[in-house]
Amino acid sequence: MELTEAQFHRYARHLILDEVGEEGQAKLLASRVLVVGAGGLGSPLLLYLAAAGVGTLGVIDHDRVDLTNLQRQIAHASDRIGMAKVESARQAVAAINPEIQIEAHEAELGVGNAAELIARYDLVADGSDNFGTRYLLTDACFAAGKPLVAAALAPFDGQLSTFKPYLGAGHPCYRCLFREAPPPDLVPRCETAGILGAVAGVIGTLQAVEVLKEILGIGESLSGTLLMYDALGTRFHRIAVPKDPNCPTCGASLA
Ligand SMILES: [Zn+2]
Repeated sequence: MELTEAQFHRYARHLILDEVGEEGQAKLLASRVLVVGAGGLGSPLLLYLAAAGVGTLGVIDHDRVDLTNLQRQIAHASDRIGMAKVESARQAVAAINPEIQIEAHEAELGVGNAAELIARYDLVADGSDNFGTRYLLTDACFAAGKPLVAAALAPFDGQLSTFKPYLGAGHPCYRCLFREAPPPDLVPRCETAGILGAVAGVIGTLQAVEVLKEILGIGESLSGTLLMYDALGTRFHRIAVPKDPNCPTCGASLA
């Protein structure tokens, strides 16, 4: 793929990097990423991936922009309250980079549409806020053999990992890490527990970096590792996550 004159300018700071260059930029432009959720994590994901020139961005969300979202969901704006989040995100992305294609899916991800949707993308970034979606994506991405860059937020903490369990030994899935979801009443969500908005920005931005690394094939993948961020202590921790040979999702990939 030949870059246009405008693309040489737009992506100039990528092109001078040995790790990206014209070849890497062409990879980004040809890539298709699905972002699940256009909220606190999805906002920085979409904005940075669009700015980086990820050629096609899918976004799925069934919600509308609410005033209480704006404290952290920076893809949205005060004059778009009431608008579908996927449409608001489309406008934000188009304002940054009109070259990229955005595929807006105003729907809830479920067992009925996950496989068909994931099949159309190279990689999935999970910016959802519930365990049902996390496990659904874990199983569907494993079945499809697609990388899943997943994150979770707490009021002053975040977690991040990349899951490529289809690669076999050394590559766990989310279910190897957390076999079962905790009971719903034990899981506070942003709406009820609150969150320091910028924490979502830190984790969503780290997620965008990992997505770009996976597409470019550079650096060290987070697969097999969980990264934890403690905002109040200003600390990052990394722990190794072993693959569970008895994992109901990916255990068989060791056979
Ligand atoms: Zn597993």
